[in-house]
Amino acid sequence: MAQPSHVSGFRLGRIIGIPVYVHSSWFLIFFLITLTLGTQFTAQHPGWTQTQHWMLGVITSLLFFASLLFHELSHSVVALHYRIPVQSITLFVFGGLARIGREPSSAKQEFNIAIAGPIASFFLAAGFWFASITFRGNDMVLAASGWLAWINLTLAVFNLVPGFPLDGGRILRALAWGVTKDFTRATWIASTAGKAFAYSMIVIGIVVALKGNWVSGLWTAFIGWFLRDAAQESYAQVAIRNTLTGVRAGDIMSQDVPTVARDISLEEYVHEVLRTGRRCHIVLGSGTPVGLVTLHAIRTVPRDEWANTSIQAVMLPIDRIQWASPEEPVLGVLERMQSVDINQMPVVSEGHIVGMIARDAILRVLQTRMQASHLAEQ
Ligand SMILES: [Zn+2]
Repeated sequence: MAQPSHVSGFRLGRIIGIPVYVHSSWFLIFFLITLTLGTQFTAQHPGWTQTQHWMLGVITSLLFFASLLFHELSHSVVALHYRIPVQSITLFVFGGLARIGREPSSAKQEFNIAIAGPIASFFLAAGFWFASITFRGNDMVLAASGWLAWINLTLAVFNLVPGFPLDGGRILRALAWGVTKDFTRATWIASTAGKAFAYSMIVIGIVVALKGNWVSGLWTAFIGWFLRDAAQESYAQVAIRNTLTGVRAGDIMSQDVPTVARDISLEEYVHEVLRTGRRCHIVLGSGTPVGLVTLHAIRTVPRDEWANTSIQAVMLPIDRIQWASPEEPVLGVLERMQSVDINQMPVVSEGHIVGMIARDAILRVLQTRMQASHLAEQ
């Protein structure tokens, strides 16, 4: 549930407005792939120099990761087309992950977002294959593009396996969602198929390892184990979604709205927080709300400047505040809080702030409801 607000790994930059990260495991994998390719090129092309083998190994590995990025970008572009925000793309061990801000709102959207990835990989496989026949005369281009065509084809096919969390699992869920009109049931079908596939990979991996092929056997089993975990987790997320169904912001907001005047200093504000225990306040300027200030925002100012800084300098201005309506489902509020990484929102009805809703209040309701449903099952 508690999603990390920032991704582990290091940031490459932004592409079409989306921050792109590489996970720390990426360096190991990059090294292993380069090593494998260098060794393979050395065996296949004894005529090349040592430098040629390893340079081509590095270039081919980089193009492989560019291919993964292209795959994730294609999911992202379709998601953005449906106005679903894409928070980040992370490249890691088994490929990439495009993190989208919320679940798709229809089966058709989910289907199109999911299928975009394998289509992109097929497209790249075809492109590299075309390059390999066009530059048949150049051994080095042929070796690199041949391998890249093969790996992109493998990626496309592997991702089409109909089990969560692979793209094929999302496609299966979209189809099941379209047929049953039941998102939870569809997710259960896709995650069960994912677990079945994962267990078969573990069994096949063990058999292969026992027959003496240790490396590929253990790799297969390891990927199976990873997929099993991921399938389980995706189902747990849907369980959370169900538990919060029917709860609206107005049901769990706190009705007192703590306020402070815009001209008080940070020093005075910290005293107010200590006195009341509230860590988020609406800032008032001549009686009307002008912004929102949190204890968190104060930390951006050095301690010795607190007395001489007014809270107006650190508050979030009114036009940039995220707010909820009392009728909004809390699940949507929680998703919005997670996607912009904030912990509270004012609840606004007919132009007036009628309450405040906090992330931990939503999580408390979630916890209580889950416990209650366990008791009911006993
Ligand atoms: Zn994909």
